[in-house]
Amino acid sequence: MIDFSLTAGDRRLIEVTRLENEAMRKHARYYDQHEDEIEPASFPESSELPDKMELMREIEDQTSGLVIAESLMDLEYADPRLRRTEHGLGDMIVGYAGTPEQLERFGHLVLAIALTEPGAGSDPRAITGSARYDEATGEWVLNGEKIYCSKFGQADGAVVLLKGESEGGHRPFLAFIVEKGTPGLVQLGQVKKMGIRNWDTEDFVLQDCRVPSINKVDADFGKTMVVFNGTRPKVAAMGLSIARTLMDFTRGKLKEAGVDVHYAAGRAKRSQMEDRLLRLEALHEATKLSILNCKWREQNEGTNTGATKVDAAIAKAMGGGAARRITQECMEMLGPLGLSEEFLAEKWYRDARIFDIFEGAGEVNRLIVARWLLDYSSKELN
Ligand SMILES: Cc1cc2nc3c(=O)[nH]c(=O)nc-3n(C[C@H](O)[C@H](O)[C@H](O)COP(=O)(O)OP(=O)(O)OC[C@H]3O[C@@H](n4cnc5c(N)ncnc54)[C@H](O)[C@@H]3O)c2cc1C
Repeated sequence: MIDFSLTAGDRRLIEVTRLENEAMRKHARYYDQHEDEIEPASFPESSELPDKMELMREIEDQTSGLVIAESLMDLEYADPRLRRTEHGLGDMIVGYAGTPEQLERFGHLVLAIALTEPGAGSDPRAITGSARYDEATGEWVLNGEKIYCSKFGQADGAVVLLKGESEGGHRPFLAFIVEKGTPGLVQLGQVKKMGIRNWDTEDFVLQDCRVPSINKVDADFGKTMVVFNGTRPKVAAMGLSIARTLMDFTRGKLKEAGVDVHYAAGRAKRSQMEDRLLRLEALHEATKLSILNCKWREQNEGTNTGATKVDAAIAKAMGGGAARRITQECMEMLGPLGLSEEFLAEKWYRDARIFDIFEGAGEVNRLIVARWLLDYSSKELN
């Protein structure tokens, strides 16, 4: 039975992350305005604040478990991050699908994941990027254009998803490790974005890019997608954290204006504004619990079960939707204050929007849940 109570270790990690969040806020506007600059591996404040990932491992036995502890910290997402994260989605895939030889050769690399192409995002079947085996050299020849690749600026390369040559009328999904510096890999620089401008996001093309056979990872489409069962609730938590930050700011500004939420008063005694804030708080709480429920399941079952996939889709659909609704309503309650660049409210509003698009857009995650509820295949309901 799931137990949502927090341990002393959980609370300590939340506290450390909140301190980090507050300390980093002074850098947020700078990176919002300098989106081509990749943040440093660590900020000067790191000399005063503990490394929360190290701390988490140190006090693991006092926490609710590493998966849940990490999720609790994601729910307090700092922007920008005090220290760069140690992993990319690509190296996580190599971690579970790589051979011992590949782990030895590539295990130390930080790798992004490159799936999306100009005509293929929600529908990876539309990927046109190609991989052809050259028997004469024993190399794979890769071609294609990959867009919106998170972390690619700081990474050592990416796990790139392409399609092989037709086998009986069907082109199989193939995954390759492509390291930066490989001839034929052309980086196109950072993408200009409406929000999360400090989120390292690059486009690149592969032009007859040759990689040896050892770079081919034994990960078809399904195996590659398993990584998202863990990252969808993570991303949902980050989006929800941004929304909560804006909600806290809104509550503070309303209080300054004389609107203080009376939780104990009945509905008849509360103003419409108070009720509105309460409803948003309830939505935040429900979404947070869905995310934690998913992470609890992951901690017990791993990420590779159908159930975790559905829970991850529920968490992501709820997280993306809640991030949008909470930030939208906060902006309405703030009025012109919300639009002023004197505050970070307008930035948080812009930042939250993407969380209902990447890692599976809201509609796509709702399709996963609907298929499960109705017992339809992806061919029957798409
Ligand atoms: C900042 C950022 C970082 C990213 N990082 C990565 C990364 O690291 N690696 C990577 O591979 N990609 C990455 N992406 C790409 C992202 O995953 C895609 O943008 C996303 O999956 C949506 O795909 P799309 O852009 O093709 O839009 P589309 O699939 O064209 O979607 C457009 C709209 O149509 C809706 N829609 C699509 N299909 C259906 C359907 N069947 N039914 C109902 N509605 C539907 C969508 O919900 C959306 O609202 C990133 C994107 C951004 C913006």
